[in-house]
Amino acid sequence: MIGSEVFRAKKQRRDHPLGIPRVSLTTDLCRLLGWVDDRNYIDSPRATKLDLADFHDPEYIDAVEASEKLGRVDPTLAELYHIGVNGNSIFDGMFRRPATACGGGLLAANRLAGAGGAIFNIGGGQHHGRPDRASGFCYFNEPALTIRALLRFGVERVFYLDLDAHQGDGVQDAFLDEPRVYTLSVHEAGRWPMAKTASPGDLGTVEDSGPAHRNLPVSAGFNDTELELLMEVAVLPLIQDFRPNVIYFQGGCDSLADDPQSKLMLSNTALWRALAIVSDAAPGILVSGGGGYNPYAVGRCWAGYWATLNGFDIPASLPEPAQNLLGEITWTHRLGRHPERHWLCTVADNPRPGRLREETKDMLRKAISQ
Ligand SMILES: [Zn+2]
Repeated sequence: MIGSEVFRAKKQRRDHPLGIPRVSLTTDLCRLLGWVDDRNYIDSPRATKLDLADFHDPEYIDAVEASEKLGRVDPTLAELYHIGVNGNSIFDGMFRRPATACGGGLLAANRLAGAGGAIFNIGGGQHHGRPDRASGFCYFNEPALTIRALLRFGVERVFYLDLDAHQGDGVQDAFLDEPRVYTLSVHEAGRWPMAKTASPGDLGTVEDSGPAHRNLPVSAGFNDTELELLMEVAVLPLIQDFRPNVIYFQGGCDSLADDPQSKLMLSNTALWRALAIVSDAAPGILVSGGGGYNPYAVGRCWAGYWATLNGFDIPASLPEPAQNLLGEITWTHRLGRHPERHWLCTVADNPRPGRLREETKDMLRKAISQ
Protein backbone atom coordinates (compact mmCIF):
# COMPACT_ATOMS: atom_id res chain seq x y z
CA MET A 1 0.00 0.00 0.00
CA ILE A 2 1.29 3.41 -0.98
CA GLY A 3 -0.23 6.42 0.76
CA SER A 4 0.79 9.76 2.19
CA GLU A 5 -0.06 12.14 4.97
CA VAL A 6 -0.24 14.90 2.35
CA PHE A 7 -3.78 13.66 1.61
CA ARG A 8 -4.88 14.06 5.23
CA ALA A 9 -4.70 17.83 5.46
CA LYS A 10 -8.14 19.38 5.10
CA LYS A 11 -7.30 21.97 2.48
CA GLN A 12 -9.89 21.46 -0.22
CA ARG A 13 -12.99 23.58 0.36
CA ARG A 14 -15.63 21.65 2.26
CA ASP A 15 -18.29 22.34 -0.34
CA HIS A 16 -16.14 20.78 -3.09
CA PRO A 17 -17.04 17.12 -3.86
CA LEU A 18 -13.46 16.21 -2.94
CA GLY A 19 -13.51 18.13 0.35
CA ILE A 20 -13.88 14.79 2.16
CA PRO A 21 -11.44 12.28 3.68
CA ARG A 22 -10.59 9.46 1.25
CA VAL A 23 -6.96 8.31 1.17
CA SER A 24 -6.26 8.95 4.85
CA LEU A 25 -9.58 7.35 5.82
CA THR A 26 -8.76 4.22 3.82
CA THR A 27 -5.34 3.92 5.41
CA ASP A 28 -6.70 4.53 8.90
CA LEU A 29 -9.47 1.99 8.41
CA CYS A 30 -7.00 -0.63 7.15
CA ARG A 31 -4.71 0.02 10.12
CA LEU A 32 -7.59 -0.40 12.59
CA LEU A 33 -8.55 -3.67 10.89
CA GLY A 34 -4.96 -4.93 11.18
CA TRP A 35 -4.58 -5.00 7.39
CA VAL A 36 -1.70 -2.57 7.09
CA ASP A 37 1.35 -1.81 9.18
CA ASP A 38 4.89 -0.60 8.61
CA ARG A 39 5.80 -3.82 6.77
CA ASN A 40 3.35 -3.38 3.90
CA TYR A 41 2.93 0.41 3.82
CA ILE A 42 5.11 2.85 1.89
CA ASP A 43 5.03 6.59 2.33
CA SER A 44 4.71 7.98 -1.19
CA PRO A 45 7.50 10.06 -2.67
CA ARG A 46 6.48 13.21 -4.54
CA ALA A 47 7.06 13.30 -8.30
CA THR A 48 9.48 16.00 -9.41
CA LYS A 49 8.58 18.55 -12.05
CA LEU A 50 10.86 16.65 -14.42
CA ASP A 51 8.89 13.44 -13.69
CA LEU A 52 5.62 15.25 -14.43
CA ALA A 53 7.04 16.70 -17.64
CA ASP A 54 7.13 13.18 -19.10
CA PHE A 55 3.43 13.71 -19.88
CA HIS A 56 2.62 17.34 -19.02
CA ASP A 57 3.73 20.63 -20.54
CA PRO A 58 6.31 22.39 -18.34
CA GLU A 59 4.40 25.70 -18.53
CA TYR A 60 1.25 24.00 -17.29
CA ILE A 61 3.14 22.32 -14.42
CA ASP A 62 4.56 25.72 -13.43
CA ALA A 63 1.09 27.25 -13.52
CA VAL A 64 -0.34 24.60 -11.16
CA GLU A 65 2.59 25.03 -8.79
CA ALA A 66 2.31 28.82 -8.86
CA SER A 67 -1.46 28.69 -8.23
CA GLU A 68 -0.89 26.58 -5.13
CA LYS A 69 1.73 29.05 -3.82
CA LEU A 70 -0.28 32.17 -4.57
CA GLY A 71 -3.74 30.79 -3.81
CA ARG A 72 -5.04 32.34 -7.01
CA VAL A 73 -4.47 32.27 -10.73
CA ASP A 74 -4.21 34.88 -13.43
CA PRO A 75 -7.47 34.90 -15.49
CA THR A 76 -5.57 34.28 -18.73
CA LEU A 77 -3.87 31.22 -17.27
CA ALA A 78 -7.16 30.05 -15.76
CA GLU A 79 -8.68 30.01 -19.21
CA LEU A 80 -5.64 28.44 -20.81
CA TYR A 81 -5.11 25.68 -18.26
CA HIS A 82 -8.64 25.26 -16.85
CA ILE A 83 -7.36 26.00 -13.36
CA GLY A 84 -9.83 27.57 -10.94
CA VAL A 85 -12.74 26.72 -13.28
CA ASN A 86 -14.97 23.68 -13.93
CA GLY A 87 -14.44 22.36 -10.40
CA ASN A 88 -10.64 22.32 -10.77
CA SER A 89 -10.39 24.44 -7.69
CA ILE A 90 -7.45 26.37 -6.32
CA PHE A 91 -6.41 25.15 -2.89
CA ASP A 92 -3.34 24.65 -0.76
CA GLY A 93 -2.21 21.21 -1.94
CA MET A 94 -3.43 21.40 -5.54
CA PHE A 95 0.16 20.78 -6.68
CA ARG A 96 1.56 18.70 -3.79
CA ARG A 97 -1.29 16.21 -3.66
CA PRO A 98 -1.43 15.16 -7.32
CA ALA A 99 2.38 15.30 -7.56
CA THR A 100 2.50 12.86 -4.63
CA ALA A 101 -0.10 10.61 -6.26
CA CYS A 102 2.15 10.53 -9.33
CA GLY A 103 5.24 9.85 -7.22
CA GLY A 104 3.42 6.84 -5.78
CA GLY A 105 2.54 5.61 -9.24
CA LEU A 106 6.12 5.94 -10.45
CA LEU A 107 7.40 4.03 -7.42
CA ALA A 108 4.78 1.33 -8.04
CA ALA A 109 5.83 1.12 -11.71
CA ASN A 110 9.43 0.61 -10.70
CA ARG A 111 8.55 -2.21 -8.31
CA LEU A 112 6.05 -3.95 -10.57
CA ALA A 113 8.39 -3.84 -13.56
CA GLY A 114 11.03 -5.65 -11.55
CA ALA A 115 9.11 -8.14 -9.49
CA GLY A 116 5.40 -8.11 -10.34
CA GLY A 117 3.01 -8.42 -7.41
CA ALA A 118 0.15 -6.27 -6.22
CA ILE A 119 0.29 -2.60 -5.21
CA PHE A 120 -2.46 -0.21 -4.15
CA ASN A 121 -1.52 3.44 -4.77
CA ILE A 122 -4.57 4.93 -3.09
CA GLY A 123 -3.98 8.56 -4.07
CA GLY A 124 -3.66 7.82 -7.80
CA GLY A 125 -6.18 7.39 -10.60
CA GLN A 126 -6.55 10.96 -11.96
CA HIS A 127 -7.79 9.70 -15.33
CA HIS A 128 -9.09 12.98 -16.82
CA GLY A 129 -5.87 15.03 -16.62
CA ARG A 130 -4.62 16.38 -19.97
CA PRO A 131 -1.03 17.18 -21.00
CA ASP A 132 -1.73 20.90 -21.00
CA ARG A 133 -4.78 21.42 -18.81
CA ALA A 134 -6.72 20.29 -15.77
CA SER A 135 -9.95 18.36 -16.29
CA GLY A 136 -12.55 16.78 -14.01
CA PHE A 137 -10.72 17.63 -10.73
CA CYS A 138 -7.52 16.07 -12.18
CA TYR A 139 -4.39 18.21 -12.50
CA PHE A 140 -1.78 15.56 -13.32
CA ASN A 141 -2.66 12.29 -15.01
CA GLU A 142 -1.17 9.68 -12.68
CA PRO A 143 -2.24 6.63 -14.73
CA ALA A 144 -0.71 8.04 -17.92
CA LEU A 145 2.60 8.87 -16.21
CA THR A 146 2.71 5.50 -14.44
CA ILE A 147 1.96 3.46 -17.56
CA ARG A 148 4.56 5.42 -19.53
CA ALA A 149 7.06 4.59 -16.77
CA LEU A 150 6.11 0.89 -16.87
CA LEU A 151 6.89 0.81 -20.60
CA ARG A 152 10.17 2.66 -20.03
CA PHE A 153 11.13 0.10 -17.40
CA GLY A 154 10.71 -2.66 -19.98
CA VAL A 155 7.16 -3.89 -19.34
CA GLU A 156 5.88 -5.18 -22.68
CA ARG A 157 2.10 -4.84 -22.35
CA VAL A 158 -0.15 -2.96 -19.92
CA PHE A 159 -3.91 -3.38 -19.69
CA TYR A 160 -5.69 -0.35 -18.25
CA LEU A 161 -9.11 -1.20 -16.78
CA ASP A 162 -11.20 1.72 -15.56
CA LEU A 163 -14.40 1.04 -13.57
CA ASP A 164 -14.95 4.65 -12.52
CA ALA A 165 -18.44 5.94 -13.36
CA HIS A 166 -16.83 8.51 -15.69
CA GLN A 167 -15.02 7.57 -18.87
CA GLY A 168 -11.21 7.39 -18.57
CA ASP A 169 -10.74 9.86 -21.43
CA GLY A 170 -7.36 11.28 -20.48
CA VAL A 171 -5.74 7.86 -20.27
CA GLN A 172 -7.44 6.54 -23.40
CA ASP A 173 -6.25 9.52 -25.44
CA ALA A 174 -2.73 9.29 -24.01
CA PHE A 175 -2.27 5.82 -25.52
CA LEU A 176 -4.30 5.94 -28.74
CA ASP A 177 -1.18 5.27 -30.82
CA GLU A 178 0.53 2.90 -28.39
CA PRO A 179 0.10 -0.80 -29.25
CA ARG A 180 1.60 -1.89 -25.93
CA VAL A 181 -1.29 -0.37 -23.95
CA TYR A 182 -4.94 -1.45 -24.09
CA THR A 183 -7.38 0.88 -22.38
CA LEU A 184 -10.86 -0.23 -21.40
CA SER A 185 -13.40 1.96 -19.65
CA VAL A 186 -16.69 0.83 -18.12
CA HIS A 187 -18.72 3.92 -17.28
CA GLU A 188 -22.20 5.40 -17.13
CA ALA A 189 -23.53 6.12 -20.63
CA GLY A 190 -24.31 9.74 -21.37
CA ARG A 191 -22.32 11.12 -18.46
CA TRP A 192 -19.52 13.65 -18.81
CA PRO A 193 -16.86 13.59 -20.34
CA MET A 194 -17.77 11.58 -23.39
CA ALA A 195 -20.64 12.75 -25.54
CA LYS A 196 -19.84 10.04 -28.05
CA THR A 197 -20.65 7.33 -25.54
CA ALA A 198 -24.07 8.86 -25.01
CA SER A 199 -25.66 5.71 -26.32
CA PRO A 200 -24.89 2.33 -24.80
CA GLY A 201 -24.19 1.05 -28.33
CA ASP A 202 -20.99 3.03 -28.89
CA LEU A 203 -18.17 0.82 -27.77
CA GLY A 204 -15.19 2.67 -29.20
CA THR A 205 -12.79 1.04 -31.60
CA VAL A 206 -10.91 -2.20 -31.45
CA GLU A 207 -8.33 -2.87 -34.12
CA ASP A 208 -7.41 -6.39 -35.19
CA SER A 209 -3.86 -5.62 -34.26
CA GLY A 210 -2.09 -2.59 -32.95
CA PRO A 211 -3.42 0.11 -30.71
CA ALA A 212 -6.74 -0.63 -29.09
CA HIS A 213 -9.18 0.93 -26.74
CA ARG A 214 -12.68 0.02 -25.83
CA ASN A 215 -15.59 1.61 -24.01
CA LEU A 216 -18.35 -0.33 -22.33
CA PRO A 217 -20.94 2.33 -21.49
CA VAL A 218 -23.60 1.00 -19.13
CA SER A 219 -26.94 2.53 -18.26
CA ALA A 220 -28.29 4.03 -15.05
CA GLY A 221 -29.26 1.35 -12.55
CA PHE A 222 -26.34 -0.94 -13.50
CA ASN A 223 -26.33 -3.69 -10.85
CA ASP A 224 -24.00 -6.29 -9.31
CA THR A 225 -25.30 -9.14 -11.48
CA GLU A 226 -24.62 -7.14 -14.65
CA LEU A 227 -21.10 -6.15 -13.58
CA GLU A 228 -20.11 -9.71 -12.75
CA LEU A 229 -21.34 -10.95 -16.13
CA LEU A 230 -19.63 -8.07 -17.93
CA MET A 231 -16.35 -8.89 -16.17
CA GLU A 232 -16.58 -12.59 -17.01
CA VAL A 233 -17.77 -12.50 -20.60
CA ALA A 234 -16.29 -9.23 -21.90
CA VAL A 235 -13.44 -7.93 -19.74
CA LEU A 236 -11.54 -11.04 -18.65
CA PRO A 237 -11.37 -12.53 -22.18
CA LEU A 238 -9.99 -9.24 -23.53
CA ILE A 239 -7.32 -9.24 -20.85
CA GLN A 240 -6.46 -12.88 -21.51
CA ASP A 241 -6.14 -12.21 -25.26
CA PHE A 242 -3.90 -9.20 -24.68
CA ARG A 243 -1.64 -11.09 -22.22
CA PRO A 244 -0.55 -8.05 -20.22
CA ASN A 245 2.45 -8.10 -17.90
CA VAL A 246 0.77 -5.53 -15.70
CA ILE A 247 -2.90 -4.63 -15.18
CA TYR A 248 -3.65 -1.09 -14.07
CA PHE A 249 -7.02 -1.21 -12.24
CA GLN A 250 -8.44 2.30 -11.85
CA GLY A 251 -10.51 1.83 -8.73
CA GLY A 252 -12.77 4.88 -8.81
CA CYS A 253 -15.89 3.99 -6.85
CA ASP A 254 -18.38 6.67 -7.87
CA SER A 255 -20.28 3.79 -9.50
CA LEU A 256 -21.51 2.70 -6.05
CA ALA A 257 -25.21 3.08 -5.30
CA ASP A 258 -24.23 5.13 -2.24
CA ASP A 259 -22.30 7.66 -4.34
CA PRO A 260 -24.06 10.94 -5.22
CA GLN A 261 -22.27 11.52 -8.55
CA SER A 262 -23.64 8.71 -10.71
CA LYS A 263 -26.81 6.71 -11.22
CA LEU A 264 -25.07 3.33 -11.21
CA MET A 265 -26.27 1.02 -8.44
CA LEU A 266 -23.37 -1.21 -7.46
CA SER A 267 -22.45 -2.52 -4.03
CA ASN A 268 -18.81 -2.48 -2.99
CA THR A 269 -18.84 -6.30 -2.96
CA ALA A 270 -19.37 -6.20 -6.75
CA LEU A 271 -16.33 -3.97 -7.25
CA TRP A 272 -14.21 -6.26 -5.04
CA ARG A 273 -15.43 -9.24 -7.06
CA ALA A 274 -14.48 -7.41 -10.27
CA LEU A 275 -10.96 -6.87 -8.92
CA ALA A 276 -10.74 -10.51 -7.80
CA ILE A 277 -11.76 -11.70 -11.29
CA VAL A 278 -8.82 -9.92 -12.95
CA SER A 279 -6.21 -9.83 -10.21
CA ASP A 280 -4.48 -13.07 -11.25
CA ALA A 281 -4.67 -12.39 -14.99
CA ALA A 282 -1.21 -10.76 -15.08
CA PRO A 283 2.02 -11.09 -13.08
CA GLY A 284 1.57 -7.56 -11.76
CA ILE A 285 -1.44 -5.50 -10.75
CA LEU A 286 -1.60 -1.87 -9.73
CA VAL A 287 -4.80 -0.63 -8.13
CA SER A 288 -5.40 3.09 -7.77
CA GLY A 289 -8.11 5.28 -6.34
CA GLY A 290 -10.14 7.62 -8.55
CA GLY A 291 -13.61 9.08 -8.24
CA GLY A 292 -15.67 8.56 -5.10
CA TYR A 293 -17.66 11.29 -3.39
CA ASN A 294 -19.32 9.68 -0.37
CA PRO A 295 -16.53 9.40 2.22
CA TYR A 296 -18.15 6.47 4.05
CA ALA A 297 -18.50 4.55 0.80
CA VAL A 298 -15.01 5.42 -0.46
CA GLY A 299 -13.11 4.44 2.69
CA ARG A 300 -14.95 1.12 3.01
CA CYS A 301 -14.73 0.26 -0.70
CA TRP A 302 -11.03 1.03 -0.98
CA ALA A 303 -10.22 -0.83 2.25
CA GLY A 304 -11.99 -3.78 0.65
CA TYR A 305 -9.79 -3.53 -2.47
CA TRP A 306 -6.80 -3.94 -0.18
CA ALA A 307 -8.41 -6.93 1.54
CA THR A 308 -9.15 -8.44 -1.88
CA LEU A 309 -5.54 -8.10 -3.05
CA ASN A 310 -4.31 -9.71 0.17
CA GLY A 311 -6.99 -12.36 0.70
CA PHE A 312 -8.07 -10.86 4.02
CA ASP A 313 -11.50 -11.86 5.38
CA ILE A 314 -14.02 -9.02 5.54
CA PRO A 315 -15.55 -8.92 9.05
CA ALA A 316 -19.35 -8.97 9.28
CA SER A 317 -19.28 -5.89 11.48
CA LEU A 318 -16.58 -3.34 12.21
CA PRO A 319 -14.72 -3.30 15.52
CA GLU A 320 -15.54 -0.33 17.73
CA PRO A 321 -12.46 1.82 16.96
CA ALA A 322 -13.23 1.53 13.24
CA GLN A 323 -16.88 2.45 13.84
CA ASN A 324 -15.67 5.46 15.82
CA LEU A 325 -13.39 6.48 12.95
CA LEU A 326 -16.33 6.48 10.53
CA GLY A 327 -18.55 8.13 13.14
CA GLU A 328 -16.20 11.11 13.30
CA ILE A 329 -16.61 11.95 9.61
CA THR A 330 -18.46 15.13 8.77
CA TRP A 331 -19.88 15.18 5.26
CA THR A 332 -21.64 18.39 4.32
CA HIS A 333 -23.62 16.77 1.47
CA ARG A 334 -27.32 16.38 2.31
CA LEU A 335 -26.87 12.57 2.35
CA GLY A 336 -24.33 13.06 5.13
CA ARG A 337 -26.81 14.57 7.56
CA HIS A 338 -28.10 11.16 8.57
CA PRO A 339 -25.42 8.58 7.73
CA GLU A 340 -26.87 5.18 7.00
CA ARG A 341 -26.22 2.41 9.49
CA HIS A 342 -24.19 0.24 7.15
CA TRP A 343 -21.85 3.20 6.44
CA LEU A 344 -20.80 3.16 10.09
CA CYS A 345 -20.95 -0.50 11.13
CA THR A 346 -19.77 -2.60 8.19
CA VAL A 347 -17.11 -2.80 5.52
CA ALA A 348 -19.27 -4.71 3.02
CA ASP A 349 -22.50 -3.32 1.58
CA ASN A 350 -25.43 -5.64 1.11
CA PRO A 351 -25.05 -7.04 -2.41
CA ARG A 352 -27.24 -5.43 -5.06
CA PRO A 353 -28.08 -8.20 -7.48
CA GLY A 354 -30.62 -7.45 -10.19
CA ARG A 355 -32.05 -8.29 -13.54
CA LEU A 356 -29.82 -8.56 -16.59
CA ARG A 357 -31.51 -5.81 -18.58
CA GLU A 358 -31.98 -5.84 -22.36
CA GLU A 359 -29.71 -2.83 -22.94
CA THR A 360 -26.90 -4.49 -20.99
CA LYS A 361 -27.42 -7.74 -22.87
CA ASP A 362 -27.28 -5.90 -26.22
CA MET A 363 -24.12 -4.05 -25.25
CA LEU A 364 -22.44 -7.30 -24.15
CA ARG A 365 -23.46 -9.10 -27.33
CA LYS A 366 -21.92 -6.31 -29.39
CA ALA A 367 -18.77 -6.26 -27.26
CA ILE A 368 -18.27 -10.00 -27.62
CA SER A 369 -18.93 -10.11 -31.36
CA GLN A 370 -16.56 -7.24 -32.23
ZN1 LIG B 1 -15.62 9.44 -11.73
